[in-house]
Amino acid sequence: MAGEPQADCLFCKIVAGEVPATIVRETETTVAFRDINPQAPTHILVIPKVHYANALELSAAEPAIAGDVLHEAGLLAAEEKVDATGYRIVFNTGPGAGQTIFHAHAHLLGGRDLQRLV
Ligand code: 5GP
Ligand code: ZN
Repeated sequence: MAGEPQADCLFCKIVAGEVPATIVRETETTVAFRDINPQAPTHILVIPKVHYANALELSAAEPAIAGDVLHEAGLLAAEEKVDATGYRIVFNTGPGAGQTIFHAHAHLLGGRDLQRLV
């Protein structure tokens, strides 16, 4: 059921401590950890502890937690000192947009020149 841990979800396993990750911050509702295949000097994933397939499903069901994910990404940008030079927060949504893990997550990217996407 949406919101409940999924046995076959890698990020639920990271939340449960069953799969190791380099965790940088944890709150009551979120976990942030380094991406295993970083695309920038700072590449952190911020995830809700609850399982929803993507950011919009999360925000529809749990708007406060969706806000927490965004808030954490911003705090981490400051902590990683990429806020002065600029950073990007990305929610890939759907396979056509490159989403490979269907547990909502924000990518925080920074520390290099980020070309304009739009
Ligand atoms: P997506 O492509 O779904 O937007 O993002 C999934 C991200 O998870 C990718 O950037 C990928 O490198 C990262 N990832 C995949 N498996 C693992 C893992 O086991 N540990 C960590 N820390 N990141 C992972
Ligand atoms: Zn999950």
